[in-house]
Amino acid sequence: MTAPSTRLRVVVIGGGILGASTTAQLARGGADVTLVTAGTLADGASGRSIAWLNSSGDRSAEYHYLRLIALDRYRTWRERHPESADYLRFDGALKWAGEGSSFRQTFEFERANGYDAVWVDRADVAKIAPDVNADAVAAEGAIYNAGEGWVSLPDLVAALAAEAIADGATIRENAGEARVDVVDGAATGVILADGSRLQADRVVLATGPAVPAQLAALGVVVPDATPAAFVLFTDPVGTEVRTVLNTPRVAVRPTPDGRLVLDADWAEQSIEVADDGTLTIPDASVRGLLDEASKVLAGNPRLTAQRVGSGPKPIPGDGDPVAGAVPSIDGLYALFTHSGATLGLVLGELAAEEILSGAPSPVLEAFRLDRFTGGGADVEVLTGAWTPVHP
Ligand SMILES: Cc1cc2nc3c(=O)[nH]c(=O)nc-3n(C[C@H](O)[C@H](O)[C@H](O)COP(=O)(O)OP(=O)(O)OC[C@H]3O[C@@H](n4cnc5c(N)ncnc54)[C@H](O)[C@@H]3O)c2cc1C
Repeated sequence: MTAPSTRLRVVVIGGGILGASTTAQLARGGADVTLVTAGTLADGASGRSIAWLNSSGDRSAEYHYLRLIALDRYRTWRERHPESADYLRFDGALKWAGEGSSFRQTFEFERANGYDAVWVDRADVAKIAPDVNADAVAAEGAIYNAGEGWVSLPDLVAALAAEAIADGATIRENAGEARVDVVDGAATGVILADGSRLQADRVVLATGPAVPAQLAALGVVVPDATPAAFVLFTDPVGTEVRTVLNTPRVAVRPTPDGRLVLDADWAEQSIEVADDGTLTIPDASVRGLLDEASKVLAGNPRLTAQRVGSGPKPIPGDGDPVAGAVPSIDGLYALFTHSGATLGLVLGELAAEEILSGAPSPVLEAFRLDRFTGGGADVEVLTGAWTPVHP
């Protein structure tokens, strides 16, 4: 008779960067892990992200530290996966302030934290970022962060899934809407859309913007500031663009196949959200993004749209990540964050370590769910404009 397996059985719900990264690490750590996702891998926020890798700007020391070690994991990934040079780049990023505001204080903050930031006068932009139109830069100048970059999450998710499978994981795409099966206050498995059930010792909820609603259905409240968002993918551009740009009217980053990905706050705010959650992107916003991007690029290339990627952008109510065991439900672990591109590798690693060892990581202490229920610091809850599509 074969002895029953003593491996920890884990089901991960959600095939975005957080689910894929956690699955790969769990499989590497010896768990019996299955990832189930409603559609295809990276078909959620991870497939329509600017995916700028950074710890830019002003934030708590704990969050800054998490982002720095997140960037560190990406550098290790680059070293260990030379082929990732196609989809993971650290070619630097440039940002400047809009009219009537200044980035001087942001620069001082970044320098005070030891972050790699240099102030660039307009006249010097061409030396540091020849792909940028210096005339478009703010009169006061710009901040250049040489250590920042971008990642194409669909490529990374595919690589993580391949590693997970090689380490024995099962990946089930097109599984429909799955839900956590909670019995007597403990997560005992996952129920798939077809009614079938996967038994588990631990369940990881990594469903991106659907996390708050799924937890709410289990009686767990997570303030949600998830807005509707979109990015615009351009057709391939003739000129080489390497620098990630965060400018007052447009953010720009390249793709592995010579396109650009664009977004902007004003464009996001122009999205029309119907009662049933359907999103409409005004043509004027698409044209506007193309124009704004052309203006900030050297030579003002003519840009055309390939496709729009729209949907909810996961953001917890206080803006900080949510990572950890769900206090009121044994065996359930949740991951829900903005900046999930930057945090993708490190959160998967730390989540898997916590699940496999049962020992909480001090690095994640500031990001627990209980901060919303009096177990942590007071939070300022932002208001979201998005009605989740997933119940
Ligand atoms: C416009 C935009 C710009 C961004 N810019 C940046 C940036 O510059 N830098 C940065 O670091 N981050 C950025 N982000 C954030 C980052 O992309 C996200 O935090 C990250 O992709 C979230 O990954 P995830 O795995 O949590 O969720 P997702 O990628 O959304 O994956 C969740 C998956 O779960 C599946 N799912 C949902 N419900 C169920 C269910 N019930 N059953 C089964 N499967 C289910 C979905 O189909 C989806 O595939 C941006 C995001 C957007 C949208």
